[in-house]
Amino acid sequence: MDGLMMDYQLNVPAILKRADELYGDNEIASRLPDKSWHTYTYADFVSRTKRLVVALRKLGLEDGDRVGTFMWNHSQHLEVYIGAPVGGFVTHTLNLRLHPDDNVYIATHGGDRVLLVDKTLWPLAAQFIPRCNFEHVIAVGAGDAPEGTIDYEELLADANESDFAYRDLPERTAAAMCYTSGTTGRPKGVLYSHRAIAIHALTVNACLGIHAGDVSLPVVPMFHANAWCFPFASTMVGSKQVFPGPHMDPETLLDGLESQRVTITAGVPTIWMGILQALDANPGRWDLSSIRMMTVGGAAPPRAMIEAFGERHGLHVVHGWGMTEMSPVGTLSGAPGQEIGLSKEEAYARRALQGLPIPFVEIRARGPEGLVPWDGQSMGELEVRGPSIASAYYASDEAADRWTDDGWFKTGDIVTIHPDGFVEVQDRAKDLVKSGGEWISTVALENALMGHPAVAEAAVIAVPDERWSERPLAVVVLKEGAQVSPEELREFLAPNFAKWWLPDRFEFVDEIPKTAVGKFRKTALREQFAQQPAERA
Ligand code: ADP
Repeated sequence: MDGLMMDYQLNVPAILKRADELYGDNEIASRLPDKSWHTYTYADFVSRTKRLVVALRKLGLEDGDRVGTFMWNHSQHLEVYIGAPVGGFVTHTLNLRLHPDDNVYIATHGGDRVLLVDKTLWPLAAQFIPRCNFEHVIAVGAGDAPEGTIDYEELLADANESDFAYRDLPERTAAAMCYTSGTTGRPKGVLYSHRAIAIHALTVNACLGIHAGDVSLPVVPMFHANAWCFPFASTMVGSKQVFPGPHMDPETLLDGLESQRVTITAGVPTIWMGILQALDANPGRWDLSSIRMMTVGGAAPPRAMIEAFGERHGLHVVHGWGMTEMSPVGTLSGAPGQEIGLSKEEAYARRALQGLPIPFVEIRARGPEGLVPWDGQSMGELEVRGPSIASAYYASDEAADRWTDDGWFKTGDIVTIHPDGFVEVQDRAKDLVKSGGEWISTVALENALMGHPAVAEAAVIAVPDERWSERPLAVVVLKEGAQVSPEELREFLAPNFAKWWLPDRFEFVDEIPKTAVGKFRKTALREQFAQQPAERA
């Protein structure tokens, strides 16, 4: 027997309409290139978003057409983010930090008909625009629009809000698109449906308890995995949204967190490491008492960092694990209610783990012999299933083997699952060190090393070894003025690891190369260091 409930479509128009009807007075603030703030209300935002929808239609866009963006995090980006899917189009965020050749591939493969670009990013954008098939390029921000482009403000001024109508778009149609960085092979397109976004925004809000009184500041770029769903989740409940614009340096971010009285913020570990150093160097300079959680994800945050924020600065870190293919949040640790009854020590230990799957994310891990038990010991590749997880890549069957025959997505992450369901990421499958037939987790070694007072950053990679096939090598950046020897670092690690896990080699460098979103680029390190055979300690 079927239930007798309405077949209501879970879509982005419903998210905007709610904000339109309920939260007109709430604010959205963006840092402008000159560091001043631009602030307007949700009512202004909704009106401009509606005019954008009308304008894109007038340009000839049809349902399903892709609308590229090449922008920092700010209110106009939010207008496109929400506006394109509300109009029946598909937002396609391009990554500012990719090589122009990659953006040519991604925009062309994605089939983008229009591109919205920040005027301040024109020198970068001009490197790939002529090689793409955009029919219109729309220039956003203050100043003159470059030749051959349409000025965003003029476009909106020419559009009539009264021509806008909310549409009840089928929830399974596409709403947004994002390419994963493709460390192997070509970048691959993830195509989010309205339904996936609506369900994900709901679950993220439920798990983090986000509400209209919150002030959110996503440092994570809107071109990186949907900015972890923050723009949709915040709009759904009318939170004040604060965007950092192009200013990502620790001091300016800290000023923004303080002056806007931010309650919830999100970024990758490298951003928070910079923030932590600034806070440690300037005790008492910023009043961050409004912050109720800093979410961190995209790479494993060292426990020492989570603890330093809590103990030295009274800041609560929530740790998340996710993937572009998962909309992107998969698991959370330290979210409201997860640490009731735990001692401080237990809570920090838990929060260094990737966490519990959020609702509608099912997990299991598979080793060479089949599914592994949830015993906190057995390692296997994490597989996931859920309504906000990709079922295929866009127009590509190159990676069809990422899905199992029974429809689970293979994450490529090697994990252990604890008896209580906590996921612990040991490594990306391609980063693991396989020494003498056993796996060594580079993530665990890195996190431990970054707990040493002299170490600013550490990345561990596998290098070929004749006897063991691979051995771990640690690449270390020291804090300014600090000194430590390989022997001291090995001794520091020794109490917590089996002897054969300890790196044989330490290389001290000034900087660890990072990916476009600020993760360690281990492929580059492997190229640099894997040539010479590892010397035994
Ligand atoms: P990219 O491949 O560009 O890094 P994603 O941002 O989608 O694309 O990266 C997802 C991957 O990032 C995950 O598969 C995992 O390896 C890593 N990751 C994300 N969050 C965490 C975390 N909290 N701890 C460890 N690894 C993480």
